[in-house]
Amino acid sequence: RFIALEGGEGTGKSTQARLLAEALSTRGIECVVTREPGGTEGAEAIRRLLLDPPGDGWGPRAEALLFAAARSDHVEKLILPALERGAWVVSDRFLDSSRAYQGGAGGIGDQAVRTLHDIGSGGLRPDLTVLIEVEPATIAERLADRDGNRSDAIGGRSAQYHADVAASFKRFAAEDPGGFAVVDGEGTPDEVHSRILEAIEPLIGG
Ligand code: C5P
Repeated sequence: RFIALEGGEGTGKSTQARLLAEALSTRGIECVVTREPGGTEGAEAIRRLLLDPPGDGWGPRAEALLFAAARSDHVEKLILPALERGAWVVSDRFLDSSRAYQGGAGGIGDQAVRTLHDIGSGGLRPDLTVLIEVEPATIAERLADRDGNRSDAIGGRSAQYHADVAASFKRFAAEDPGGFAVVDGEGTPDEVHSRILEAIEPLIGG
């Protein structure tokens, strides 16, 4: 089974990916936790190029191609081999991040992002995408607490860009209710974890 966790920055995806993998492991399910951009040596190298761009930064098209290239390596070398040996994969971000950031907020368009994904990653889709939704005010508080000076985010983006990302995620979930579980990300990590487990439960049984 392949689960993707999606949402904007500060929604708790990384923490929840770890908690979910721990819960699956205690049920005897082998689980690989990974993240995008990254997850393999090559994709982590592309991540560094994205987060610390040479020169004056990437244009939206180059950025979309870099995300697609990183995912291609990630899918081929880590995700598919794990799925083929019967492990579960929990990925902190996947295709829908590219659709929301590069496609929606970045203006590349959904079809272009899907085409790049189909070329790069053979059209692989998660069995379930968990969208974690958190109010913008909570996100602002969490990011301020995390660190005043983050080096693990792509900088220079407007509040409007992040609002467009959140709106895009919401729309994708509404358009594909079978493929998504929308989870309330407010509250403690344990509270959110319980909601995610509840959403995943049908996949554990079948
Ligand atoms: O999820 P994480 O914080 O590790 O993502 C690193 C950076 O990459 C963030 O600034 C995130 O917004 C950005 N990103 C992006 N497009 C994606 C995935 C992540 O701009 N498709």
